[in-house]
Amino acid sequence: MPDLPAETDFFIAELDAAVEAHMNWTRRIVRCAVLRSTPGEDVLDPLAHTLCHFGAWFVANRDQFKALEPEATRRVEAVHQAMHDAIRSICSDVLAGRPGRSADLDEFEASQAELIGLLASFKTLILSQAVRNDPLTELPLRYTIENDFGLYQKEARRNRTLLYVGMIDVDHFKPINDTYGHLVGDKVLRHLADTLKRTLRSDEPLYRYGGEEFLWLLKCKSPEEARQSARRVLATVGTTPVPIDEEETLRLTITLGLAKVGEREDLSSAIKRADLALYEGKNLGRNRFVFAES
Ligand code: GH3
Ligand code: MG
Ligand code: MG
Repeated sequence: MPDLPAETDFFIAELDAAVEAHMNWTRRIVRCAVLRSTPGEDVLDPLAHTLCHFGAWFVANRDQFKALEPEATRRVEAVHQAMHDAIRSICSDVLAGRPGRSADLDEFEASQAELIGLLASFKTLILSQAVRNDPLTELPLRYTIENDFGLYQKEARRNRTLLYVGMIDVDHFKPINDTYGHLVGDKVLRHLADTLKRTLRSDEPLYRYGGEEFLWLLKCKSPEEARQSARRVLATVGTTPVPIDEEETLRLTITLGLAKVGEREDLSSAIKRADLALYEGKNLGRNRFVFAES
């Protein structure tokens, strides 16, 4: 498994801590009931669910959770509050010398179980997304291409539009590593990925296919439009120098091989043709695009 980006690590650590803290409530309630000792002032506050560490963290990161699963996000908030309400009620009764209510205990157990289940699902979702994305460039890796390709091909057939597979390879990248070192090489790749992402339309996915190779799914209405897009991408990369330190910038070029996807063609055949076109572009001198024969 590749290294997870630092923010993913941090997110997972917070989720783990939240599960542990909320599991720990069973022990704290037992202690409160047996010893008649207060479980802590914050527990008795009607807004306890917003005061606990997890509650505050969840509110601060709500948008990220919502983007993953809006319904589950609402459910986390509801059951988290229900759990704290039940704890407050149980502990208030005990501290006032009254027996606790079984409905509160049931509510506590059910909401605790649901909260922990929801947080575990979020953890799985976040981890599976993290391994699908390249930590260096944050682009999706090749795992999702096959599925996306199928959907795009179907859509092109339905709308009578064209779909191209583009293979992008950085020109003379090895000398960059050899001259400036791998860390600068990494920085160049990250910068290039950002430039490409900004240049491509949002419905034209870009993947990190290999080391310094990127795969692009290009939707368009005509071969001329595909040519224009290819020209634009090449021009943008060529006119966006990469800053490598405070004084020096590096000019980068790429070569692009494109294959128009047949209505029933499979992904590996389209990639093979785009690769051959790319190879031809390299042989013709690089910094250009070449279209494969249909
Ligand atoms: P060409 O114009 O023919 O494509 O030449 P090139 O030097 O770009 O081609 P080559 O395939 O020989 O070199 C690619 C290099 O990319 C080799 C490899 O060490 C480097 N590379 C692959 N992935 C990474 C990465 O993640 N970081 C860095 N810094 N280098 C990488
Ligand atoms: Mg290469
Ligand atoms: Mg290269």
